[in-house]
Amino acid sequence: MDDRERISETRPCLQAKGNDSVNAGHNTWNGWDDHRSALYQNADRFARDALRADTAERDVSGEFDRAGWKQCAEFGLLKMPVPQEHGGEGKPLSDLLTVMEGLGHGTDDQGLLFALNAHLWTVVLPLSIHGTSAQRARYLPALMQGSSVGANASTEDEAGSDVYAMRARAERDGDSYVLNGTKSYITNAPIADLFVVYATVDPALGALGVTAFLVDARTPGLHKSVPVEKMGMRTALMGRITLTDCRVPAEAVLGKPGRGVSVFDGAMEYERGCILATTLGAMQRQLEQSINHARTRKQFGRAIGKNQAVSHRIADMKVTLDAARELIHRVGKLKDDGKSIALASASAKLFVSEAYVKFSLDALRIQGGRGYLTGAESERQLRNSAASVLYSGTSDIQRTLIASQLGL
Ligand SMILES: Cc1cc2nc3c(=O)[nH]c(=O)nc-3n(C[C@H](O)[C@H](O)[C@H](O)COP(=O)(O)OP(=O)(O)OC[C@H]3O[C@@H](n4cnc5c(N)ncnc54)[C@H](O)[C@@H]3O)c2cc1C
Repeated sequence: MDDRERISETRPCLQAKGNDSVNAGHNTWNGWDDHRSALYQNADRFARDALRADTAERDVSGEFDRAGWKQCAEFGLLKMPVPQEHGGEGKPLSDLLTVMEGLGHGTDDQGLLFALNAHLWTVVLPLSIHGTSAQRARYLPALMQGSSVGANASTEDEAGSDVYAMRARAERDGDSYVLNGTKSYITNAPIADLFVVYATVDPALGALGVTAFLVDARTPGLHKSVPVEKMGMRTALMGRITLTDCRVPAEAVLGKPGRGVSVFDGAMEYERGCILATTLGAMQRQLEQSINHARTRKQFGRAIGKNQAVSHRIADMKVTLDAARELIHRVGKLKDDGKSIALASASAKLFVSEAYVKFSLDALRIQGGRGYLTGAESERQLRNSAASVLYSGTSDIQRTLIASQLGL
């Protein structure tokens, strides 16, 4: 009998418990009322029952689950944040984040969820907020029903973190704009039906020249690349788009000419604060798998979880996840209360993305060699997690945003 087992004998609170009382579930987090618990459980169940279970294979081949996308739309996901007067459900952001977390727990296809998030935060929501009634009527129904895929095209090879240094040009020609330029790292690009393209009407104006355009993927002069190969999130497709004398009507401007910054900054604020809600569910999956493995895997004649090095690692994972939850759901609460999310969304993005990488590495350590094999969820999660410190602004950029909110 080791020291811990001896203490456990005399102190029942330290004794190993049955499966029902393993402290891995939401019931021990106590953060939610019945309404939100039901939302979470419903989304979790939907993802488990309706979405494909062959993520490991599709991760290798880089296959996007288009049917799963449609099912998520039919489940109501893409309507949730859109006001009812625009055909959506006008649900509170807190509800949507809860559903996202449930989906992230119910499926291991983080790529599909990432693609849906990109579509939602950077196309559906900006269109719903800044679109004219004609733009909304034309594009929103299909975007919400899942028959149309949206993509955000802002980044260029030479304008990443410094996004407003973009070179893509939009030249006014009568009642049209003529777009020229190349956009890189665009999530959903190879399969997108609608792009929100950012281009400058005058590079000398800097950020004040940047304008957002709604560009139908079939517009002559818009070329979509084949999917680019990448490290993680392989079930979400990424590509480049090239615009060559791509003519769009003046009515394609989203917001106002020269006011693309307000469209982009608004979209990014939502995306930063919300895109990692599905990650909370993924982290919960990893926590449960870690606990299960620590209880069942035996080395040196006993469960590896009996070693404090392992059990404390899992304890740290639990605390990290709870902190991550607080930060993400704080964004939802602030937004629903009509308050600014500028600081909260950058804080959430910074903390949760960095935590996700460390968390995934810790989960891999607990799984040992089997977790490193291709096809293992730990290996996939670690590769997926690495992307999160880059997209929607790198961690350095989040720190810069936080510092500027603090007046620095
Ligand atoms: C999975 C994934 C999905 C993406 N999806 C999209 C998409 O849908 N649409 C789209 O337009 N773009 C997308 N991107 C692009 C993404 O927004 C950029 O990769 C990101 O903004 C960083 O730009 P960059 O890659 O050019 O890196 P760089 O800007 O070159 O940065 C390189 C390094 O320098 C650091 N750095 C740069 N400037 C500063 C500074 N001022 N202070 C401190 N450090 C700094 C960065 O933090 C980073 O560590 C995606 C990227 C990834 C990885």
